[in-house]
Amino acid sequence: MRALLAAVVSVGMLLAAGGCQQPCLVKSPPAPYFGPRVASSAAAQARTVPRQPTQTQAPRQGSWNVAAWRVDGPERTWQYIVIHHSATPTGSADEFDRMHRAKGWDELGYHFVIGNGTGSGDGEVEIGSRWTKQKHGAHAKIPGHPEYNDVGIGICLVGNFDVTRPTEAQMQALARLVRYLMDRYHIPRDHIYGHGQLKPTDCPGRNFNYADLFRRL
Ligand SMILES: [Zn+2]
Repeated sequence: MRALLAAVVSVGMLLAAGGCQQPCLVKSPPAPYFGPRVASSAAAQARTVPRQPTQTQAPRQGSWNVAAWRVDGPERTWQYIVIHHSATPTGSADEFDRMHRAKGWDELGYHFVIGNGTGSGDGEVEIGSRWTKQKHGAHAKIPGHPEYNDVGIGICLVGNFDVTRPTEAQMQALARLVRYLMDRYHIPRDHIYGHGQLKPTDCPGRNFNYADLFRRL
């Protein structure tokens, strides 16, 4: 038993002696290599990979995913795009969904909500549950004109544009989304409206710049 213990201790000492007690010095530098710089480019990749922003670190500003706008399954024959503001300084798709349900509506009335950096990212395009289902809108009830809800895509920009203006990120996101919808559903420019062009309302706010939007399309 004692002999075994001694053997274990001596092996342990040997192992300890094998490690560096002091900073290790390289006794002989590696031979120079004049071939392709495979090793160093691999090292460069290894250095840069961890710096790639991950999904959670990525800024949400101006974020959209065009692929996510495309719907699986049958699509509605959309013919109009109607632009709104929320008439609130802050908000998000979730917040407006709760507001609309509290009014007794089935769910969020818009198909898309574009954030202003309050309840969601600045210029972040949120997809409403109606869009996923390809369900008619509940955003443009115009007497005698059911088509603006039936086949009208409702896009709401968060903000009160009677007081402020859309952010640049919101306008960029709006233009990108409208371009996508125009292309996908063959919607002509003269079927793009602000809510206030269809009925007497300030929506999308007196500071909403139609010319600016159409310049971007
Ligand atoms: Zn509106």
